[in-house]
Amino acid sequence: MVLWQLQTQWEWDGIASLQFPEEHDWHIFIKCIQCGEEGQRAVVVSPQLVEEGIRGAVVHLRYTCWFCRRQHEIALRSTGANLGGEAMYEWKNVVSLDCRGVEPIDWRPDMGGALRAAGEGGYEFDEVALDAEDANTDQVAAWYDYDEQQQREVSVILQRYRWARESG
Ligand SMILES: [Zn+2]
Repeated sequence: MVLWQLQTQWEWDGIASLQFPEEHDWHIFIKCIQCGEEGQRAVVVSPQLVEEGIRGAVVHLRYTCWFCRRQHEIALRSTGANLGGEAMYEWKNVVSLDCRGVEPIDWRPDMGGALRAAGEGGYEFDEVALDAEDANTDQVAAWYDYDEQQQREVSVILQRYRWARESG
């Protein structure tokens, strides 16, 4: 299996931290490395869905390539990322996927459930839904709200993301 990290960079305002809940679902696009076919629809890798893999290990998605019919597997390795302010300057991992036979090529950050954010005044936003349509052309997805406690607008903007491969 090969370990893939989804890495992100953010810009936020009035926010102290951002958390992906452990139960977050990951809507990703994958490519079959046997035949090179790229899936046109996102697949869902969910911590709620657990299946037995080909060799008896626990996996979160069993996937049959529609083109070459080979069976592939994806297992979630680390979820529940909690990002601090350094996420605005550094690439930060938000999930790790163990992939057999496929590799991730894209991600839908606007799907999979709301995130949580803590305002700089301490207010907890638990319905941070990133919206791809709210974003400017140089952003991927964004969320805007008003923090009554700080009496100011707050925002969370996903600037960019990438998949990084680790040997595993
Ligand atoms: Zn294939």
